[in-house]
Amino acid sequence: MIVLIDNGHGENTPGKCSPDKRLREYKKAREIARRLVNTLLSNGVEAHLLVPEETDVPLAERCKRANKYCDKYGAKNVLLVSIHHNAAGADGQWKSAGGWCVYTSPGQTSADLLATDLWNAAEECLKDYIGSFDAHKAKGDYDSKQKPMRADWSDKDPDYEARFYILLHTKCAAVLTENLFQDNKADVDYLLSEEGVRSIVQLHYKGITDYIKHTKA
Ligand SMILES: [Zn+2]
Repeated sequence: MIVLIDNGHGENTPGKCSPDKRLREYKKAREIARRLVNTLLSNGVEAHLLVPEETDVPLAERCKRANKYCDKYGAKNVLLVSIHHNAAGADGQWKSAGGWCVYTSPGQTSADLLATDLWNAAEECLKDYIGSFDAHKAKGDYDSKQKPMRADWSDKDPDYEARFYILLHTKCAAVLTENLFQDNKADVDYLLSEEGVRSIVQLHYKGITDYIKHTKA
């Protein structure tokens, strides 16, 4: 299995940062993506960064790069995870939404299995984040509707479905993870901690390697 890790946006993408500018999505996503690729490689999994550049590479070009691997090795021997951070608004204000979630394209494909493995791994690896969520809620960091593990169970699995370009135009199993909210203060604090980054890298490593085991079985 060849693992392709995409990181959202580029340093030239406007917006896409925390209101206090401590976190920029392109930068944090790259930090996580690079650490994840290194973790996969050091454990014997073939992994590649889809966008090693710091600048934004157009989605069509990203898909072209991914599909080159699919054509060479067979689409079922390739998987893609695109790493992002969520946002509840674009007005530069702190918001009250938080939590982790994963997206697939509409319908049932192998991406749904990958997404479920990632979701289960997130539930395990984000235990510290999940465990402190209610205390943060009590402080008003999250509104009462928020959950640390965001899910859409309407089609019986936890992923959300969306017609994101990178999910629709890649031939392999492809998912997009939204790793907490860049406009929530408590989420940003967690993302800026070493523990937070390590947990998010670990959940991706576990979800991906579980999926590889499941597809081999
Ligand atoms: Zn994004």
